[in-house]
Amino acid sequence: MRWILHSAIFLFLTALTLVGGLAWLAAVWTGRKALGFPLIYGCLWLLTVWTAPLAGREPLPCFGDTLRMQSPFYCVTLRHFVDQEMAQVATRAAGAIKAQYPDTVTLALDGGFAFTGLPLLPHLSHDDGEKLDLAFYYTDQQGVYLSGKTRSPLGYFAFESLDTENCPAAWPTLRWDFRWAQGLFPKRPLEPNRTRALIVALEGDARVGKLFVEPPLAQRLGVSGDKIRFQGCRAARHDDHIHVQL
Ligand SMILES: [Zn+2]
Repeated sequence: MRWILHSAIFLFLTALTLVGGLAWLAAVWTGRKALGFPLIYGCLWLLTVWTAPLAGREPLPCFGDTLRMQSPFYCVTLRHFVDQEMAQVATRAAGAIKAQYPDTVTLALDGGFAFTGLPLLPHLSHDDGEKLDLAFYYTDQQGVYLSGKTRSPLGYFAFESLDTENCPAAWPTLRWDFRWAQGLFPKRPLEPNRTRALIVALEGDARVGKLFVEPPLAQRLGVSGDKIRFQGCRAARHDDHIHVQL
């Protein structure tokens, strides 16, 4: 029974953080899980951040007022790595928005793990450092930009519209909409100018290959271009964040 539990914890922590499963096994082996796990995980965390450049990955900033991870969760779980080119793309786009709107901080969501291997679940494609999700910008009820804030705790799943017109009944699908949770998120309208400017900046970068934005949202924002695509009905919806890939 015990090994089933430990295997489940190992799988969960590996899927969540890549090295967390190893830290758990090592902590179980020492016989002092409560003390061992945070200590071992902390060491593996440092080792990962130090050695990621050898695998061509770098961590996006956890702090900063131009571009930073949306939540400490992404840094703690080591989900904030991208390859150098993607880091440059994100930094440049965030800088462009900051130049237009000086109070703006651009928030990054899931990037990838530090080493090639597992995809970053639940995303199927975030496996090579060339994909990154970015949060929308939001305002308060009066339309004033809220610096560094999203609607949902991790920046995902607060959808702009639950219109099903695009995808009537695709199955199987990852197009979940968490309808039950939508009322729990604070009412913060999307800030269209900054969000549009971010999409335009990314679209205009020659290194970017594709951007996923839900078509009704792209229409509402007035953005279009060959790189701005609909991800299809079987993949996660993209009216809660922007997906960019090289
Ligand atoms: Zn993505």
